[in-house]
Amino acid sequence: MKITKLSPQGYCQGVKTALNRVIKAIKDESIPKPIYLLGPVIHNDYANKIFTDNGAIIIQSKSKSRLELLDEIPNGTVIFSAHGVSPAVVEKALIKGLHIIDASCGKVKIIHNKINKYLKLNYTCIYIGTLGHPESEAVLGLSDKIILIQNISDLNSVNINNDNIYVTNQTTLSIIDTKNIYEEILKRYPNAIIDNNICDATTKRQLAVLNQEPCDLCIVVGDSKSSNTKKLASISRQVNIPTLLIESVDNIIDYDFSNINSISITSGASTPRILVYDIIKH
Ligand code: SF4
Repeated sequence: MKITKLSPQGYCQGVKTALNRVIKAIKDESIPKPIYLLGPVIHNDYANKIFTDNGAIIIQSKSKSRLELLDEIPNGTVIFSAHGVSPAVVEKALIKGLHIIDASCGKVKIIHNKINKYLKLNYTCIYIGTLGHPESEAVLGLSDKIILIQNISDLNSVNINNDNIYVTNQTTLSIIDTKNIYEEILKRYPNAIIDNNICDATTKRQLAVLNQEPCDLCIVVGDSKSSNTKKLASISRQVNIPTLLIESVDNIIDYDFSNINSISITSGASTPRILVYDIIKH
């Protein structure tokens, strides 16, 4: 069987930096304990288990915002995830007297700064993202004036009476879907400033999937909660390659590979390499 490892794949720089900050905090005796992670630092259960095995506590709930989750942290250190947090979260953590470690990715912070700049200039800001994703939650927490768009049809319920419009997006969206949304926005608002902020790591990983050689199966390795991982699988399906999104080798133990002669394999920006090695070995 021919197995092609698509490149690049796996940890991006933002994830590496966030993971290193958590590991350093756990080891550093001068950092107040316990160490709480406000939501998983990255969307990968395997990586987050390493932290909890070393004493860190992950505070998470699908139904609660980062701001609400802070209520469950009484003392010690709080680590903000790579997805970023809103100013209200930072303020609340400070009022609670928590030691703060900010593991937000620099690319996310750049988006916050740009939106703040355009809000100050009285632009209407549109943000293309996913409702409930922590990165979107942080951005929407910058101002209640920001308009969230999740897909093209959402534009039908938007009515903007401002000639000055700034549009940007979540870093881990699909390059194909986002391009389509931007084209539609420009049809409706030709003067809008379009600032595509899908990060380099996401773009390069998606292009590798988009331009892969035809094969019988593409395996995407990553956590099913990871936005960038899900987008890799969706792009692979859009180029008509049968695709499996799996979290580990355990998911394919009983898979029938008898009619599969060629496989491409890639992984999300928050997926540890060892998970990919185990799958290739299998
Ligand atoms: Fe940063 Fe992009 Fe990695 Fe997200 S996927 S942590 S934005 S580099």
